[in-house]
Amino acid sequence: MTMESPIEESNSQRWVIGKEFRFEASHKLPNHDGKCARLHGHSWRCVIYVAGNKLINSGAKQGMIMDYEDIKKQIKPLLDNYLDHYHLNETTGLANPTSEAIAKWIYDRLEDKIPGLIAVKVDETCTSQCIYSKGKQNFFLV
Ligand SMILES: [Zn+2]
Repeated sequence: MTMESPIEESNSQRWVIGKEFRFEASHKLPNHDGKCARLHGHSWRCVIYVAGNKLINSGAKQGMIMDYEDIKKQIKPLLDNYLDHYHLNETTGLANPTSEAIAKWIYDRLEDKIPGLIAVKVDETCTSQCIYSKGKQNFFLV
C-alpha cells in the first residue's frame, strides 16, 4: 500500500491521531529479579500515533490526515501472526520482551508502512505504560 506522507515540515499546524488495538499475550522477563521473571500474561493495549499537518482535500478520506482503517490494516498482520494469543518471547524474537522492547518492535515494523508514524504506546497493565518514538521532534501526545 502506498500512502502520501501527511507531513510537510514547512507547515506549523499539526494533528495527531491515535489508533488503539488490544491483544492478549504471555511473556516473561528472564533477567527480572521479581515476579516478571515468571511466565505470565497481560491484556496489552497499544496506541499507534500518526501526525500530519495537512488534510486530504478530496475523495472518501477528505478532511483526514489518514484513515484510521488504513492504520488498522497495517496492524492486523502483526496481531494475527505475532501478538494476539502468542508467547511474545517466541514470536517477536525478543529475549527480554519488556514494554519498551515491544513498543520498539511494533514501531520498527510499522515505520515504513505508516507515513507520519510518530510513536507507539504500549500499556502492559492499567498503571504501567511505555511510549517509544525516535527522530521526531516536538511530537505531541495526550
Ligand atoms: Zn508482564
